[in-house]
Amino acid sequence: METYADEIKQILREQKLFFASNETKSLTFRLEQLKKLKEEVKRREQDIIQALAQDLNKSELESYSTEIGILYEEINFTMKHLKKWAKPKRVRTALTHTGSKGSVIKEPYGTALIIAPWNYPFQLALSPLAGAIAAGNTAVVKPSELTPAVSLLIKEILQHIYPASYIAPVEGGVPTSQTLLEQDFDYIFFTGSVSVGKAVMEAAAKHLTPVTLELGGKSPVIVHEDANIALAAKRIVFGKFTNAGQTCIAPDYLLAHKKVKKELLRAIKETIIEFYGDMPLESSRYSKIVNDRHYGRICEYLNDGKVIFGGEKSDETLRIAPTLLDQPDPGSPVMTEEIFGPILPIVEYENLHEVIEFVNGRAKPLALYLFTKSRETESQIMSCISFGGGCVNDTLMHIATPYLPFGGVGESGMGSYHGKYSFDTFSHSKSVLKQTTAFDFSFRYPSAKNGLKLIRRLMK
Ligand code: NAD
Repeated sequence: METYADEIKQILREQKLFFASNETKSLTFRLEQLKKLKEEVKRREQDIIQALAQDLNKSELESYSTEIGILYEEINFTMKHLKKWAKPKRVRTALTHTGSKGSVIKEPYGTALIIAPWNYPFQLALSPLAGAIAAGNTAVVKPSELTPAVSLLIKEILQHIYPASYIAPVEGGVPTSQTLLEQDFDYIFFTGSVSVGKAVMEAAAKHLTPVTLELGGKSPVIVHEDANIALAAKRIVFGKFTNAGQTCIAPDYLLAHKKVKKELLRAIKETIIEFYGDMPLESSRYSKIVNDRHYGRICEYLNDGKVIFGGEKSDETLRIAPTLLDQPDPGSPVMTEEIFGPILPIVEYENLHEVIEFVNGRAKPLALYLFTKSRETESQIMSCISFGGGCVNDTLMHIATPYLPFGGVGESGMGSYHGKYSFDTFSHSKSVLKQTTAFDFSFRYPSAKNGLKLIRRLMK
């Protein structure tokens, strides 16, 4: 069993030394490294597209929009704003502190560990890395072993532009990941499943290392009676079947209002055919399931309800057609586990209270989508259900803007990133009070005459 323990320890020693040299803290250095990353990704763009096709049968459109382009945007945005973000911020001080100045200095944690999953294997490894670099950290990046072509490519890209004493890719599976987690990193950024997230947090507790956990769960999409049905159908099909449903924020199940369910299902079926054709298993626009294990797991869900559309599958190419599953048993695996595949169970409801009770009866979702024209419905859902993030009248798109923090809550994770939030995630906010030496209020000292009286007046 390969764990690369000695190599990992050596890398970490070297990274700690390099971090101590203070080189990573210069703004010019950080900007240069971000630029290098973008240039190298550009240079290898065709190889990335090929690797994603090999590992997941991703189409070029999907690869560019959800893996490569999104990373360019993240790097561009970061480079544009980094100077401002990194600048120490002056803050006000309290009346009791008259004469002093307060400031918040953003400092890098040090050595960061980034562990990535397989579903967006490129972007989910390198987008957090952009944040770690921007904040001035060194980093070890562990891509997912389940997408080996992309993992190898990430290694090649990083090794080509960075020394391991600054940014080091470490390839490997669970044992390697566990060995990494035993080390004394200064920050851990993990994207993956809830169960592994718990193991990550447990390992981090040993060194009291702060963590960001980007996890998963069951994200509902609610279509209310007043929704624009044609648009809802398009956007749900887009969100659910992109990457064959292997998206952490894909709508996991559909809550459809009784009055519009029939019309909605008809529109969803038409849209699936429009997007992927009559034979989705043959379509070059449609992804495959990552491996046999996940393929078998997802196929089992087909027994948990009534297949009213799709259901075709191919053991050879590991593809499962976009599938609609009506009347799922609420206690069955398809309704209790994260599906992470192209099966959409449909639950009918009559009023919003049912919806709120249903969603709140489960772990807090990573995402929630609501289709409605009513402000009142919107505000009722927003104020009654806790979830990581989401959209009204759309799916997935909240992840693609650097202005919104992306992350979960409760079982779907902790912490967030993207844009400035990535920079903040990988930075410690160091508070400094600079006191004046021009005068000295003596009322705080034990020898002060009317000290207590004055303090009582100031602090009441
Ligand atoms: P996973 O938890 O199995 O693996 C993620 C990473 O952890 C991999 O690099 C893997 O090698 C490592 N790992 C696996 N088991 C480990 C263990 N016992 N100890 C230490 N490390 C271990 O997740 P996955 O199957 O790669 O990804 C799918 C999951 O990730 C889904 O639950 C999905 O919702 C979630 N996800 C979340 C986000 C997000 O941004 N919130 C994004 C993508 C995926």
